[in-house]
Amino acid sequence: MDPSALREDFPLLARNPGLVYLDSAATSQKPRAVLEALEAYYQTLNANVHRGAYALSVAATEAYEGARRSLARFLNASPQEIVFVRNTTEAMNLVAYAWGLRNLKENDEVLVTEMEHHAGLVPWHLVAERTGARIRAIPITEEGRLDLSALDHLLTERTKVVSLVHMSNVLGTVNPVAEVARKAKEAGALVVVDGAQSAPHLPVDVKALGADFFALSGHKMLGPTGAGVLYGRYEVLEAMGPFLGGGEMIQEVHLDRSTYAKPPQRFEAGTPPIAEAIALGRAAEYLMALGMERVWAHDRALVDYALDRLSEIPEVRTFGPRGPDRGGVVAFTLGRLHAHDVATALDQEGVAVRAGHHCAQPLHRRLGVAATARASFYLYNTREEVDRFVEALKKVRDYFK
Ligand code: PLP
Repeated sequence: MDPSALREDFPLLARNPGLVYLDSAATSQKPRAVLEALEAYYQTLNANVHRGAYALSVAATEAYEGARRSLARFLNASPQEIVFVRNTTEAMNLVAYAWGLRNLKENDEVLVTEMEHHAGLVPWHLVAERTGARIRAIPITEEGRLDLSALDHLLTERTKVVSLVHMSNVLGTVNPVAEVARKAKEAGALVVVDGAQSAPHLPVDVKALGADFFALSGHKMLGPTGAGVLYGRYEVLEAMGPFLGGGEMIQEVHLDRSTYAKPPQRFEAGTPPIAEAIALGRAAEYLMALGMERVWAHDRALVDYALDRLSEIPEVRTFGPRGPDRGGVVAFTLGRLHAHDVATALDQEGVAVRAGHHCAQPLHRRLGVAATARASFYLYNTREEVDRFVEALKKVRDYFK
């Protein structure tokens, strides 16, 4: 894979050759093919889906359902298991409300991890407040991996859900989801995976992972904002009631009651993000054509290189493990400087990184820092950009000395 050539596919990057964009964990840049899919929908296909008997609506429906098939292939699922949502946050709320609210009782336990994004925590908090269920957490080790030795005593007959992030947006750690899922299943728990960071960067096979649910955000994997996916194992989806009610998700409606459509329509109330879902399908096709193994190898090489180069700066402290289970995210601090000052100063050098708690306050508390700066890499980033980032960071260090 040649990232320099690939950059030509990304109009924003081609237009800003001086920009070192290292914030793909927040949202990725979009290739021309995705932008064209958005435009083409409005120019040639614009009609509502699943409603019209006329040719244009049938064509729009076919394109929308084609995107569902692309996402199913991307995750090794069947199309009926792909629910289009807005993003990972909505997917996690869908599971918490539609499954959790109905199935959790007082003293049941939801097992999360210390490295969750708030999207993997707050929906469970909301449901726990209403059901009396409790939240417990798998701790992390000093290197930033899950401490699996704690799993055996944390997983009990009270554990009804294990909800964990596949790849941490702060530590870059790729968690051994298949192993955790196997143990969770033995304990009779449902397995919910936050795949917001993993789906864009590494091959995902939801069946091999043993996930009952897997959530992703399209905008982090080259797609537009406004469309994401919740994969749900079909038997689980079929046994669930809806999350939101309205048009599209019903079978029959009376004035005082209704019955619901089969999944996935049961979970897609109202007009869906049609153009966005179609463009997300195009993004998934783009990634599959490149090959997710190659995307992952590229990210891995870049993060190893970045960690090596950052070790040249004694004032830099990085977080997260090293090894094959480390993705392309590097959260760091620079001496005693505030992360926001570091990010602002790097921006002056043309390097875009994020600063803050990255929606992972419990993790930052565990790491003993209020905030970190974070550089994150994707398929269009180059080693030269890592060099520019490190050189800029040295300048920032010297400036504040
Ligand atoms: N989970 C993880 C691990 C993330 O990194 C993010 C995004 O930052 C989310 C969930 C939430 O994604 P979104 O804001 O697209 O819903």
